[in-house]
Amino acid sequence: MMRHLLLPRCAPRAAFNVQRSSSFGASVLRAARQYSIQPTAASDSKTLDIDPRKLVIERTGKPKALKDSKDLVFGANFTDHMLTIEWDKSTGWHEPRITPYQNLSLDPATCVFHYAFECFEGMKAYKDKAGKIRLFRPDKNMERFNKSAARIALPTFGPTNLIDLIAKFAKLESRFIPEERGYSLYLRPTMIGTQKTLGVGPPGSALLYVIASPVGPYYPTGFKAVSLEATDYAVRAWPGGVGDKKLGANYAPCIVPQREAMSRGFQQNLWLFGEEEYVTEVGTMNFFVVIRNKETGQKELITAPLDGTILEGVTRDSVLSLAKEKLAPEGWKVVERKYTMPELAQAAEEGRLIEAFGSGTAAIVSPVRSISWKGKVVNCGLKDHEESGETTMKMKQWMESRQYGDEEHEWSYVCE
Ligand SMILES: *Cc1c(COP(=O)(O)O)cnc(C)c1O
Repeated sequence: MMRHLLLPRCAPRAAFNVQRSSSFGASVLRAARQYSIQPTAASDSKTLDIDPRKLVIERTGKPKALKDSKDLVFGANFTDHMLTIEWDKSTGWHEPRITPYQNLSLDPATCVFHYAFECFEGMKAYKDKAGKIRLFRPDKNMERFNKSAARIALPTFGPTNLIDLIAKFAKLESRFIPEERGYSLYLRPTMIGTQKTLGVGPPGSALLYVIASPVGPYYPTGFKAVSLEATDYAVRAWPGGVGDKKLGANYAPCIVPQREAMSRGFQQNLWLFGEEEYVTEVGTMNFFVVIRNKETGQKELITAPLDGTILEGVTRDSVLSLAKEKLAPEGWKVVERKYTMPELAQAAEEGRLIEAFGSGTAAIVSPVRSISWKGKVVNCGLKDHEESGETTMKMKQWMESRQYGDEEHEWSYVCE
């Protein structure tokens, strides 16, 4: 029996029965397949990995009109297509498909709706001067995606296989990627548990999909430094928890503290942890400070260590690498260590807190003006007329140069 669980009725059935080949050299679909995976009893059969050679492409008959690039709103508009790959316990990964962007149809009892079997990634595709599409350190995203999935009993996959498919998908959507600096295609790989059951257990079936949204520069008119409110009444992540994984379940609980901060005039909140008031992350970005060492006078770029309370940002890792490469030779110390709000406040008081910024794929770096903490304002080193510190500015340039392929570097993955 054919059942359409994940693909909507509007998708012409014939499209899945015909033999197809694509300009990407994808393989040919020979027979109709079932969409509604019926999770069966546990099977001992060896299951299949994601196989890019089996990619089936069904192009849209209704290409969307492109928005004027200056009207782009983050995550509001999506491209023509989506990439989907179904998984079930006995078969493993089914053939990957690129289809028109469309709704999913899921039973109300599907486990993702009840027990939050969901994890995601955030990455971008950039268009270089030659018009080639480039990903930035996609291996890092895949590694993290697999770690997130494994933590919530969702299936894992061979990372290069998905990179290959994402590259093909990004290339197919190339017309949505504006060429100007600062623009890119935001890619959202997502995995959900699709088993229809209220029983709490590992999902017997899952869907991996990737959607894409063209985005403009985070700061269209140049950097704007943000003011933060230190949050001590709510905790984002804790040792042994899952705050270091990109699980959807981690994000909904962050909205209320963020809204609280906004209601008092701050753009973001700074997550503290424990009685010591360790500084962890800002909103959904990692956090860096530049402090002049009291004893040595040396400049230090400091960020919290990956102790389970910090999301392993790809941007964070890149900032640390760039700092070791370019700042350390100038005498800087680059350190991952725990540091506290009282320590920051003291450094600020002594004029040693030089800069602070958040880091993440969306903004690359986001300069921070001040932190409101216990009724005090901790000034992060910017003069009133400045919107960004020097290091923050340099980091953005260094990052963009590798993202857009101005500088040929192993971090940049050219979609062939
Ligand atoms: C995604 C995310 C980041 C940034 O990660 P990048 O890979 O640099 O985009 C930081 N903190 C949280 C909580 C996140 O969800």
